[in-house]
Amino acid sequence: MKVVATKTGLRQEMEHSSRPVVLVPTMGALHDGHLALVRRAREIAGPEGTVAVSIFVNPIQFDRAADLESYPTPLEADLAACRAAGVDVVFTPEAGEMYDGDRSVTVTESLLSSRLCGATRPGHFDGVCTVVLKLFLLTGCDAAVFGEKDFQQLAVIRRMVRDLDVPVEIVGFPTIRENDGLAMSSRNVRLSPEQRQDAPRIRRALLSAAENFRQTGQEILETARGEIEKSPMTRIDYLELVDAETLQPVDEIKKPAVLATAVFYGDVRLIDNVTIFPNRELKALAR
Ligand code: AMP
Repeated sequence: MKVVATKTGLRQEMEHSSRPVVLVPTMGALHDGHLALVRRAREIAGPEGTVAVSIFVNPIQFDRAADLESYPTPLEADLAACRAAGVDVVFTPEAGEMYDGDRSVTVTESLLSSRLCGATRPGHFDGVCTVVLKLFLLTGCDAAVFGEKDFQQLAVIRRMVRDLDVPVEIVGFPTIRENDGLAMSSRNVRLSPEQRQDAPRIRRALLSAAENFRQTGQEILETARGEIEKSPMTRIDYLELVDAETLQPVDEIKKPAVLATAVFYGDVRLIDNVTIFPNRELKALAR
């Protein structure tokens, strides 16, 4: 496994990497969710292709300095996990390597980014699009794998690739969860034991609300809100029911819709979502 921290080093490495090249962009603190994406990347790349992982805590996608500063960075453990998972190339740049001090170009998706995480984290998706496009250009990857946990991110990146004719296939992957249903996240380690014990309520709330798929959007949202707010430890950042494609709010499940939330436990912000289908109760339940 090659580990490179410079853009020049990465380009040189990718020049003689065999195709297809499949990239898994991450911010590190790797857990089984990330590693499932890596396994999917290997399936796509095949034994002869190249699996690349980037580990970069991208400062320009953080809206809160404290969140950036407290983001876990266990690089040695991450490299060991990549090695064990059969990754070929890991890119671990510093912020100064990725961005010039006077950088003045940003990639903006202006429709799907405006709601949900984009509304409560201003500039977040500009940061995501900018870094992901740079990573695509630097690696020259043929495909890239992203988690459905960040379903808005996946939609925004698909749109960026479509609208800018970026020749990269975008592959989505279902959310990997702890045994109690909590979506795996690098931020889970920052929860107190009490918060960690309470946090599966997010998933429970989304599932119980989604079971009432014949109800109005308003009713679905009320059920979910009630369950999340039962705990004094939670603060809802947003809770929305949106069309799975357009990400616009809906009040009736006529097409696949996504019930999505971001919930604060103290200063730790967790996100999760469930897709609701008009005829089948829950795709997520079948998983
Ligand atoms: P992050 O390191 O949080 O930026 O995540 C890197 C990639 O891993 C993104 O595509 C995420 O959507 C994906 N990811 C994070 N958590 C999970 C999870 N629990 N299951 C599946 N994919 C995940």
